[in-house]
Amino acid sequence: MLNFRRKFLKVLGFSYISSLLLPYNFLFSASKKIVNPDLSEEQKKIMLNESTERPFSSPLNNEKRKGFYHCANCGAKLFASNAKFDSGTGWPSFTESLPGAFKTKIDYSFGMQRTEYHCASCGVHHGHVFNDGPGTQKKRFCNNGLCLFFKPES
Ligand SMILES: [Zn+2]
Repeated sequence: MLNFRRKFLKVLGFSYISSLLLPYNFLFSASKKIVNPDLSEEQKKIMLNESTERPFSSPLNNEKRKGFYHCANCGAKLFASNAKFDSGTGWPSFTESLPGAFKTKIDYSFGMQRTEYHCASCGVHHGHVFNDGPGTQKKRFCNNGLCLFFKPES
């Protein structure tokens, strides 16, 4: 009887935890919308499954012109070129985003607690934001280059 009760509690505990986690993850993935039919498989993997491109693989690491960085999926304007800096990490890095460009959530994967951010317009993943950046705000937006496209100022 005791054994049965223990098993029952285990099952109950499991379903309680999953009922806390699953709807959120489900809703979160459901809120990501691919609107650009030309995205590559690699881009979709990063945007939908929150994977990360290889460091130093993005040509945007070396982009130094004036302009704006847009969401490669929906085209929303996300960063101004004056917020870009060379973090040495191998990913395009920014001290701040344009107001309202992103929403964040806490990401516990790989045994770390990190702040994930995603496009406020289409919901796709872009990168993680850390508190070790330069300047007064101390923010470092570490963005996958594949999630961005750059439009130089004309
Ligand atoms: Zn977007």
